[in-house]
Amino acid sequence: MSWEIGYDTNWHRDIGYGVPSICDHPGCGAEIHRGLAHVCGGEPYGGDRGCGLYFCAAHLRLHERLPKLCCRCSPRARTPFSPTTDLPAWIEHKLTDESWAAWRAEHPEFAAEHSRKITP
Ligand SMILES: [Zn+2]
Ligand SMILES: [Zn+2]
Repeated sequence: MSWEIGYDTNWHRDIGYGVPSICDHPGCGAEIHRGLAHVCGGEPYGGDRGCGLYFCAAHLRLHERLPKLCCRCSPRARTPFSPTTDLPAWIEHKLTDESWAAWRAEHPEFAAEHSRKITP
């Protein structure tokens, strides 16, 4: 699987630059994607120092000897932010796009859970 779309088994959500998202900083709301440019820790799942959540440029700190980190991980806080929920557009993409057909066949519970919310 390329990094366009992957799955984060730590936070249990889809990641990769193909996944539209919003910044995981509380109250931010900036639209980003879950690609390497936005991950805290500089690598998928966050590496040694990061939490592996995804932030906009304003909420990632640059360090000389460390990867980009969010303001929780930068001083080694133990409690990461809570991840934002998936965008409705992304859930709808997974529910309807052909490229997710095989995945949907393996995860019928996803459609059962979300189709109700999207089409009332
Ligand atoms: Zn972090
Ligand atoms: Zn932000």
